[in-house]
Amino acid sequence: MTKVFKIVVVSGLFLLGSCKVAVKGNDGKDGVDGASAEKTGTIKKEVLPFFIDSVTVKKHLYTLASDDMEGRKSGTAGIEKAAKYIENEYKKIGLTTFEGLDSYRQTFNFTPRRSKEEITSANIIGVLEGKSKKDEYVIISAHYDHLGIRKKEGELDSIYNGANDDASGVTGVLALAEYFKKVGNERTIVFAAFTAEEMGLVGSTQFGKGIDASKFVAGINLEMIGKIPSFGPNTAWLTGFERSDFGKIVQKNLEGSGYQLFPDPYKKFNLFFRSDNASLARLGVPSHTFSTTAIDVDKDYHKASDEAETLNMTIITQTIQAVAKGTESIINGKDTPTRVVLEEKKK
Ligand SMILES: [Zn+2]
Repeated sequence: MTKVFKIVVVSGLFLLGSCKVAVKGNDGKDGVDGASAEKTGTIKKEVLPFFIDSVTVKKHLYTLASDDMEGRKSGTAGIEKAAKYIENEYKKIGLTTFEGLDSYRQTFNFTPRRSKEEITSANIIGVLEGKSKKDEYVIISAHYDHLGIRKKEGELDSIYNGANDDASGVTGVLALAEYFKKVGNERTIVFAAFTAEEMGLVGSTQFGKGIDASKFVAGINLEMIGKIPSFGPNTAWLTGFERSDFGKIVQKNLEGSGYQLFPDPYKKFNLFFRSDNASLARLGVPSHTFSTTAIDVDKDYHKASDEAETLNMTIITQTIQAVAKGTESIINGKDTPTRVVLEEKKK
């Protein structure tokens, strides 16, 4: 079933790729590989043509999820390699630094729960200043930490690569930074790779402490965007859908694209509060998480088997571009989502 799906989707992309592609890949070719539009199979539904370069997407994902990064646990040498990779990509893209910082790093110390040892770690933050609304911010984020190396009885593989969780999201952050650098943005975009999400949303909480939340008009967080969703291909779901009209704006922008956004179907898992979007939502920012993964049945979640090879490159690439298209009117200042009000809000 997966294979059939791939063929149908990819040929659909080629069909549209010849006439609608807005941005060329790094290699100067349109779409996936610049293939001609003529040889197509049966197309049932139009889907977005690739305007995010899938070759770069694959490179980011495979690098961040490689064994060399040793599972990217905050405070380790492995995550430092990931931090350097992200910084280097920000630099290549041409991002500037966030207010008050003289590099992409927001470094801080903390003591994780159930630990006595203090850790030094850093969020990696880059900025694309908006053209006409530079004092209005949209944040695009994902966490770059994961669980590190864990020795478990009977398990040969002890590296928790965290390919889907959340190298896939960081890949999205990098791809979107490159994309918006090319096409331009009216509001300022803050790109954040957060640390220590797995230790309790530590990095994003730290980031939230230092900001004027009223300047942040929206938060776009990406988590586990590399697997075929339960709603079927060309879909993602959004946490906290009913908590602001952010999701409805995205749905409107995706009309006719063939890609659909649904409210989070896994209510009992309380996912809105289980990723970095929550740290900003607690400050009133309409900050939500996009995901594609069927978290209720995913066998690789928080397992050593969460490897790059288990992810679907078409799903990731399409989802990243659906996020770009779906949030375009927010990034360009045409739409402003309603603020989030939490019933559990502290004073
Ligand atoms: Zn995660």
